[in-house]
Amino acid sequence: MPDVQSTRVLIIGAGPAGYTAAIYAARANMAPVLVTGLQPGGQLTITTDVENYPGFAQPIQGPWLMDQMAAQAAHVGTAIVNDVITRVDFSRYPFQATTDSGQTYLAYAVIIATGAQARWLGLPSEAKYAGGGVSACATCDGFFYRGKKVAVIGGGNTAVEEALYLTHHASQVTLIHRRDKLRAEKILQDRLFANPKISVIWDHEVAEILGTEKPAVVTGIKLRHGTTGVAQTLDLDGVFIAIGHTPTTAIFAGQVRTDSEGYIITTPGTTETSVPGVFAAGDVQDKIFRQAVTAAGTGCMAALEAEKFLAKIPFRVDEAA
Ligand code: FAD
Ligand code: NAP
Repeated sequence: MPDVQSTRVLIIGAGPAGYTAAIYAARANMAPVLVTGLQPGGQLTITTDVENYPGFAQPIQGPWLMDQMAAQAAHVGTAIVNDVITRVDFSRYPFQATTDSGQTYLAYAVIIATGAQARWLGLPSEAKYAGGGVSACATCDGFFYRGKKVAVIGGGNTAVEEALYLTHHASQVTLIHRRDKLRAEKILQDRLFANPKISVIWDHEVAEILGTEKPAVVTGIKLRHGTTGVAQTLDLDGVFIAIGHTPTTAIFAGQVRTDSEGYIITTPGTTETSVPGVFAAGDVQDKIFRQAVTAAGTGCMAALEAEKFLAKIPFRVDEAA
C-alpha cells in the first residue's frame, strides 16, 4: 500500500457507530476506509449477553454481534484496516490522518466513531470479577439481577439513574458514594431518596470486591470509611461502577470543538462537528444514551450526512484524488 492514500470517506473506529457508518457509506458507493484502532468491534467485545439489540429474540454475544457488523461492512465494500490513527489535521483539505504504521490518509470527509471508555476504580478485584457481577452498564446488565442485591458506586447523574433503573430488577439497591453529597441533579436525588428499594451509604470508598474463585462471581463488597478508615462488608450479587466515562478524543483536541469533558460537540439533530465535512457518531458525542443501537443510529446519520456533504463540494472527488 502506498504511504499516502486518498479516500472519499475515512471512518475512525470499529464499534457499532463506525461499522454502521461504513455499511451506509459503502452502499452509497463512497468506498470508505475504516481504521479499527486497538479494539476492533469496540466496547461490546468485552461483554457477553446482549439482550437489547433489536432483531434477536434470544440473547446474543457482544463479540459475535460485532463480527457480524464487520462482515456486513466488508461485504458491501468497506476497506477495513487494522491500524490506529495517531494524528489528524482538519485544518487542511482534503483532511489528513496518519496511522501508527506510518500510513497517511487524505480524506474528503471523516467520520469520527472512536467511542468512550467507562472509568473504573482500578482495583485488581474489580478486573477479576468483570463480567462475573461487576458491570459499568445497568441498562445492559440490570436484567441479570432480578430479585438480587446490587450496589452502585458513584454520586453523579449516571450513578443515580443507574440506581433508579436497577430498582426495576433488583430487590435491593445500595448507592455507595465517597462523599456526603451527591453531584447528581436535585430532581434525580429526590427520586432516589423517595425510592424504598434504595439505601445510600455515604463517605465510603470501595476497598475490595469480594467473590468466589471458580467461577469468579461477586458475593459482596468491602468498604472503608473515608476519614475513620473503619471497614465494613456488604453481601451483594452485583456491583455497578458509575464513576463516569472518558470519551476517546485525545487525538482530536484542538481539531474539533469538544465540551469540558472532552465529548465532541455536534449540532443538535445532526452528526456535524465544528468542522464542515467532519462528522462524529456514537459514544464519542453522546454522554446520555451510550447504547449500541443509538451508536449505530448516529453512524447511519453520519454516513448520510457525509454523502450529502460530498455531493455539494465543487469538484469530483475521484478526479481530485
Ligand atoms: P465503541 O464501541 O466504544 O468503539 C470505539 C471504536 O473506536 C473501537 O473500535 C476502537 O478501537 C476505535 N478507536 C478508538 N481510538 C481509535 C483511534 N485512535 N484510531 C482508530 N480507531 C480508534 N450497549 C447496548 O446497547 N447493549 C448492551 O448490552 C451493552 N452492553 C455493554 C457492556 C459493556 C461491558 C460495555 C462497556 C458497554 C455496553 N454497551 C451496551 C454500550 C455499547 O457498547 C456502546 O454504547 C457502544 O459500543 C458505543 O459504540 P461506538 O461505536 O460509539 O464506540
Ligand atoms: P460525573 O458527574 O463526573 O460523576 C462521577 C461521580 O463518580 C462523582 O460523584 C464522583 O465523586 C464519583 N467518582 C469519580 N471517581 C471516583 C472514584 N475513583 N471512586 C469513587 N467515586 C468516584 O459522571 P456521570 O455521573 O457519569 O455524568 C457525566 C456527565 O454526563 C455529567 O455532565 C452528567 O450531568 C451527564 N449526565 C446527564 C444525565 C442526564 O441529564 N439525565 C445522565 C447521565 C449523565 P465526587 O462527586 O466526589 O467527585
